[in-house]
Amino acid sequence: MPVKTKRILPNLTFQNFFLRLSLVLVMLALISGISLDYLNFRQKETSYLPWTWLTRPSIPAEAEKKVEKKVETARRQKPVKPAKPGPQPVAETSSQKNLPLVAIIIDDLGQDLSFMRALINLQVPLTVAILPEAGQAIETAQLAADHQFDVLIHQPLEAFNGQTIGTGADGLITTTMSQEEIWSRLEKNFERLPVAKGLNNHMGSKGTANQYLMEIIMEFLKQKNLFFIDSKTSPKSIAYDLAVKMKVPAASRQVFLDADEDRSKIKDRLIELFLSAKKNGQAIGIGHPFLETLQILEAYLPEARNYGVQLTRVSEIIDRQKNTGQKKASD
Ligand SMILES: [Zn+2]
Repeated sequence: MPVKTKRILPNLTFQNFFLRLSLVLVMLALISGISLDYLNFRQKETSYLPWTWLTRPSIPAEAEKKVEKKVETARRQKPVKPAKPGPQPVAETSSQKNLPLVAIIIDDLGQDLSFMRALINLQVPLTVAILPEAGQAIETAQLAADHQFDVLIHQPLEAFNGQTIGTGADGLITTTMSQEEIWSRLEKNFERLPVAKGLNNHMGSKGTANQYLMEIIMEFLKQKNLFFIDSKTSPKSIAYDLAVKMKVPAASRQVFLDADEDRSKIKDRLIELFLSAKKNGQAIGIGHPFLETLQILEAYLPEARNYGVQLTRVSEIIDRQKNTGQKKASD
């Protein structure tokens, strides 16, 4: 018996080994077959195993299309609105694309927030010029920027009448100041109103006619990437021409809306502004925080398109000029 056992055991071990080897070989063949099939699938060639089920969720094509459609519809339906209510960017359709542009700047803001809030309620694109040293200047600028208004530094400049005190004369720059004094005053004002996109002059009949003073201001604007709007408080102003010469983006005011003592003329001035835009393709008007001005703006600006013009922020007029300039340069 012990001999028999000895004989059978090696036989069994041999058979066992052979069986295991065959199993391993079959497994290897299977694995390489599956791998090859997967490679074929990855290379988008004919494969026999259902790899698509394993690699992506099994959404039937029709259902998938429906989901895509829903997302697309939601995207289209969701209005693109700024976080807070305010003047909305005016959507351009092909027929309105080339309407003459009208930008209105409201000067002398920053004393208190009430007029700024009233302007926000108009729900139209406007620009505000803030006296940098006024009591609520910083708050007004922030509120304006939060509601998509363009903000300008309303820089007090020396006038021929010698006015150096009174509302808005704080932070005044005069023609007798040194270069350093002028520069540091500009720096200080820009630090107070960092959201500003540009600068326009408050008063300044003497200042804007002074080459020395205006050259320093233009150099400052250039360095800070700000544009210049000449309020044109004097026909002797050289500011706009100098800005063009020094390659500072610039524009000039065409119409003062409420300079007349007789406030009943504001509406006529507004119509004059619209006509000026139609004649020249664009026009800039300046108004002040008077109740009568607000009432006229409220009555006419929401319907500006009925007069064949498009209301916009002053930076868009500057941008349009830049683009036209570039086109001319590339011609
Ligand atoms: Zn002013």
